[in-house]
Amino acid sequence: MSGQKSLKLLHMYPNVLDLYGDGGNVEVLKYRCKMRGIELIVTPHYLDTPDIADFSQQDIIYLGGGADYEQQLLAQDLLSCKDKIAAAHKNGVFMLMICGGYQLMGQYYKDSNGEKIPGLGLFSYYTQASRNKRDRCIGNIVIDTQICGGDYKVIGFENHGGQTANVATPFGKVLHGNGNVRGGEFEGYVEENVIATYLHGPLLSKNPRLADHIISYCMKRKGESAELAPLNDKLEEACRKQLLKRLSENK
Ligand code: GLN
Repeated sequence: MSGQKSLKLLHMYPNVLDLYGDGGNVEVLKYRCKMRGIELIVTPHYLDTPDIADFSQQDIIYLGGGADYEQQLLAQDLLSCKDKIAAAHKNGVFMLMICGGYQLMGQYYKDSNGEKIPGLGLFSYYTQASRNKRDRCIGNIVIDTQICGGDYKVIGFENHGGQTANVATPFGKVLHGNGNVRGGEFEGYVEENVIATYLHGPLLSKNPRLADHIISYCMKRKGESAELAPLNDKLEEACRKQLLKRLSENK
């Protein structure tokens, strides 16, 4: 036995769901794991390709964002994975989903042409876009979240036409930007092992504590220590401070 600690991440459609560098979230997780002596083993799941990953053996399932076209492209393939994803979710696998990926885990996404893309129905929320393609929520966003039992401001960038309703447990309270609906009070969806959000950034590079929260959860679930050695996040913290200041001044 090598004694090397490891976590497994299943990256769904890495070449289709990669808006605004969302794939960077996987890089951030890999780096922050590596700095703690944990190897993050990433397996991709590609469109219309037989599964090479055992969904039940994963620690994290990740879906990035994608525009309406990409969502249409992969909808059938994603539905064919429904039972495996639902079982993993039930089993406590951590699920991180951004924007287009977030929408497809709900009941459905009705796009700006009125086309209804069925979701996996894992959660009760549903999403509808305005028929006016210009009617989108675009810009920087800051939300107040409760992670690791504490208060943490999560910063990102949103660009979505979809308006998500019937969200039982939102990820955060909107301080700046829109969130689930235009001018709304709440953003995203959260459970102990789920973060679904409209925030690109990529999300985890702007919010390193969120990345550590996910890693800690996964280590704990494996019965290993959830304590992670602190990293030098001075640059990230300076960027966060600057962004939070700028965005709170520009309401
Ligand atoms: N197509 C979706 C929308 O516009 C998702 C876009 C995204 O992933 N940024 O609502």
